[in-house]
Amino acid sequence: MHILVSNDDGVYAPGIAALAEAMLPFGQVTVVAPRENRSAIGHRKTMHKPLRIDPAPFPVKGVAAFATSESPSDSVAVALLGFIKEPIDLVVSGINRGANMGQDLTYSGTVSAAFEAVIWHKPAIAFSLVDFSENADYRPAAAIARQVVALGLYRNLPPLTLLNVNVPPLPLEQIKGFKIVRQGLRTYNDALITRIDPYGRPYYWIGGEAPSGDMTEEGTDLWATHNGYVSLTPIHLDMTSYAVMRELAAAGVERLVPGQVE
Ligand code: MN
Repeated sequence: MHILVSNDDGVYAPGIAALAEAMLPFGQVTVVAPRENRSAIGHRKTMHKPLRIDPAPFPVKGVAAFATSESPSDSVAVALLGFIKEPIDLVVSGINRGANMGQDLTYSGTVSAAFEAVIWHKPAIAFSLVDFSENADYRPAAAIARQVVALGLYRNLPPLTLLNVNVPPLPLEQIKGFKIVRQGLRTYNDALITRIDPYGRPYYWIGGEAPSGDMTEEGTDLWATHNGYVSLTPIHLDMTSYAVMRELAAAGVERLVPGQVE
């Protein structure tokens, strides 16, 4: 098996080394990831400037690693579109520094790397550690990642579907188990900070406290990790709201005469 590993924290982040090492027992491991931290970059496709790719020193023996100049999804795209010559069987992304739950998924470069993989018909799993601290311990999450890949669940995922996994910040023996859950509801505590630059012009920074969210609603990723479980959420790239489609149809939208307002 040949596993491609990417992330959004950058090729030199501790989480990607832990994940690459955890994948080694399955076969060949190749890392293609951004040179710098690209967290919260979303699913960016670089279209108007060149991409640069360089070999990167990597702390795990036996892993070939490359650093790209742009986004996580660019990194996965270049790898799958031919930069990596050997066929790739699975793409894993992470282990992200910090959770990717609820609405985080729309910002997340970690999850977007997995989105990019499923767009190119490769099974993909995103791994995040619910711990944003500088000295977070990635070993429990790496052991969980190895276990999830060993299960082989990714082989049966339908098209455009990935697995999103969040691991609580606990020693392995204190993690209670696994919960198959939906996306929960995040609350962002963002604040617009306005300051004045040395030339007298205002500049802006989106800051504030770390995001919180609803930990009480059972059956969500936020609830599961808050209660000491690993959350497993299958994510589909089809963002259509089927319920609202039916409502719009019931409201007669398709019978409208174009341009006519009653
Ligand atoms: Mn990140």
